[in-house]
Amino acid sequence: MAKQPAGKRGINTQLTHGGYEPRDYHGFVNPPVVHASTVLFPDAATMAGRAQKYTYGTHGTPTSDALAEAVNALEGSAGTILVPSGLAAVTTPLLAFLSAGDHVLIVDSVYHPTRRFADGMLKRLGVEVAYYDPHVGAGIAGLMRPNTKVVLTESPGSNTFEIQDIPAIAKAAHAAGAVVMMDNTWATPVYFRALDFGVDMTIHAATKYPAGHSDVLLGMVSANEACWPKLLEAFTMLGCCAAPDDVYQVLRGLRTMGIRLERHQQSALELARWLEEQEGVAQVLHPGLESHPGHALWKRDFSGASGIFSVVLAGGGQKQAHAFLDALSIFGLGYSWGGYESLAVSVFLGDRTIAKGPYEGPLLRLQIGLEDVEDLKADLTAALEAARRA
Ligand SMILES: *Cc1c(COP(=O)(O)O)cnc(C)c1O
Repeated sequence: MAKQPAGKRGINTQLTHGGYEPRDYHGFVNPPVVHASTVLFPDAATMAGRAQKYTYGTHGTPTSDALAEAVNALEGSAGTILVPSGLAAVTTPLLAFLSAGDHVLIVDSVYHPTRRFADGMLKRLGVEVAYYDPHVGAGIAGLMRPNTKVVLTESPGSNTFEIQDIPAIAKAAHAAGAVVMMDNTWATPVYFRALDFGVDMTIHAATKYPAGHSDVLLGMVSANEACWPKLLEAFTMLGCCAAPDDVYQVLRGLRTMGIRLERHQQSALELARWLEEQEGVAQVLHPGLESHPGHALWKRDFSGASGIFSVVLAGGGQKQAHAFLDALSIFGLGYSWGGYESLAVSVFLGDRTIAKGPYEGPLLRLQIGLEDVEDLKADLTAALEAARRA
């Protein structure tokens, strides 16, 4: 049977078949999980020349290649590294592309542990760290300095969901000689192909939707042709490779990610619209809502929305936020997201210098899982009532 070019296939076909050819391994539908440190060479000359595809466990295995190749096809990237957590997928490219005396621009609505790494370790290593407004757009040109080497974007922003004008930022950053990284965890490559919009390296916490079951930690960074050698070099130097069982679980998760995302998207949008109408809710921060300030940009660039957004209560403080959370019975109280189950957390904006509101009341972040929407509505109704009574 003639093979259809992979690029012409639909997204769910790519997700179900990408990265692995069953005929390459006796017809088994799934690839083997290769547990490896040592790889044997047939003779001394081959060993001296490292003249074979696999040389040592830290440098890749058929299992890591299967996931990396599936992701390269989704991203349109030249190469993908797999690291042990989403946070390592942020820190590895920053370490690869920044040196003492360099300047990095980071969006102020960034994932909090990224800020902790930048303010702690990058500053200690002599890197100048500055934060910018997520709404800066082409205005980032005015923040670029001769020593600006990296612009780190994240869109939508963590917890507050600001949409960034990625093409405008990438254009200005490139004109000034910087590379652009994007933490694209929220959209996944299914809803935003970052490299097509000028991003040089796209970062994913595969812990979230790709893994999908709240039981695996993994990070992925995909680079374009120009940035791939430097990213791969740093990855090899740092030795922060991912474990084979985790890699396998994420490849397994990819197979169903398309349909899971559709359901997360549909349920989250329905609940976001419904919450906008509820008493006790001041605002819903979901870019798929017409009321969201970034809605037009989101519609221009993204092909969908995943299942996480925030609600702003109409007044109150920690007491009301805690009453809301404590009244939930289906939503769990816990960090992370992207799994099959619904979660809620209180949002802390105390680390922000720019993207910090003001908001009318406390912010609560909701991850909408795969449960039935009517049950989630009942849970949220009870939580809003509890917040109003508190
Ligand atoms: C969760 C998350 C990470 C980190 O992922 P872990 O696997 O939990 O380390 C990075 N970036 C964003 C935007 C995230 O939401």
